[in-house]
Amino acid sequence: HLSKRLETVASFIPRGAALADIGSDHAYLPCYAYLHGYITRAIAGEVADGPLRSAKQQVEKAGLSHVISVRKGDGLAVLSPGEVDCITIAGMGGTLITNILEAGKDKLSGVQRLILQPNVGADVVRKWLMNNGWELIAERILKEDGKIYEVLVAEKGDGKKPYANIEAELLLGPFLLKEKNDVFLEKWNNELAHWKQIVRQLTEKAETESAAAKKRELEEKIKLVEEA
Ligand code: SAM
Repeated sequence: HLSKRLETVASFIPRGAALADIGSDHAYLPCYAYLHGYITRAIAGEVADGPLRSAKQQVEKAGLSHVISVRKGDGLAVLSPGEVDCITIAGMGGTLITNILEAGKDKLSGVQRLILQPNVGADVVRKWLMNNGWELIAERILKEDGKIYEVLVAEKGDGKKPYANIEAELLLGPFLLKEKNDVFLEKWNNELAHWKQIVRQLTEKAETESAAAKKRELEEKIKLVEEA
């Protein structure tokens, strides 16, 4: 049984894809995707020894060693160009995800779809996609075990395409903002309350140059999110 978070990631894998799951840890995602008939084969990439071992064990236990190749390496370095058409990267910060994509740009030429699940910093990922010719085609936001997760799906295309009000939508997500579901509202109401508390603390402090700058920056973000 897969987490709702990873099930959501898996639901966007095109049928028949050759998949690379980078930072696969236990390799649950590629195993699930194969056993449900989503993919024909997969590469599970891991940089750390512990997770690499558990990925290998899981793939063997599931009897899938002939279709899922577990490889040790940093990011997309485990791939040859053209080897896969879909890449999933889940359960990391947005900055790490974009660093992996940036460092592995030469491996992305044959890739049709990216499915990315940043734990934090989804805006960083949206910005990278926009600036690198990847069009955001779908987004999901979900809550599981008290945590809120976002899933971003992109295909090659016009990076600027889904955006109308770029500044707000890079932060909030163009599709998520349109849908405005309960989880989305909960996330951004929490963020607003948090930012407002920091602004209050910064106001109480002696007004140093940097505190004032930080306060202005937060007030702008608060305005942006409240308007949206
Ligand atoms: N993708 C799984 C999930 O969503 O449940 C595992 C997430 S786990 C929190 C993050 C994994 O990414 C860790 O196992 C870590 O070793 C791996 N990782 C971090 N940086 C990496 C990199 N540059 N290349 C490959 N794997 C990486």
